[in-house]
Amino acid sequence: MHDDAASPIEQVAALFASQAGQAYFGEPVSVAVHMLQAGALAEAAAAPEPLVAAALLHDVGHARGAPREHDDHQTDQRHEETGATWLAQWFPPTVTEPVRLHVAAKRYLCATEPSYVAGLSPASVRSLTLQGGPMPPDEARAFEQSPYWQAALAVRRWDEAAKDPAAPTPTFDHFRPLLVRLLDRRPSAR
Ligand code: FE
Repeated sequence: MHDDAASPIEQVAALFASQAGQAYFGEPVSVAVHMLQAGALAEAAAAPEPLVAAALLHDVGHARGAPREHDDHQTDQRHEETGATWLAQWFPPTVTEPVRLHVAAKRYLCATEPSYVAGLSPASVRSLTLQGGPMPPDEARAFEQSPYWQAALAVRRWDEAAKDPAAPTPTFDHFRPLLVRLLDRRPSAR
């Protein structure tokens, strides 16, 4: 069966399965475990369901690799854009926009919270330069104008905490019902 013919949830599930054993850029957990832990942290914080999904899916752009137009190693391959665009086939902006902004959120927090920088993993510090470094003040003010900026900050904090090889990690199946509820069923959606 061609990949695109599978249901959205099956396509996402396949992505998690394919990444199960893949290392995540110098972090001690795989990309799949990292995302599952981020989703679990959002759920434990009683976040709204779209935000739990955003945390769960925030790095799908890493798992899928970069399409041509964003294949630019100088910008960390723009995994936040490729991931959000892929998810927007099926999910509403409350899911996709925090994903799109989660790297901007890191740059924002690095500029505005010294304690946040101190808590970054070594790999996350290394990628900060590729991602553009801490946000300059004018860019930070513009970031605060996004309706999703605070949701993106929340995803980012779970992102940083979701790298613990000893943490209990739910399976992808745990999140299936939530994802099904969030599928975008607007008439204009596919
Ligand atoms: Fe992440």
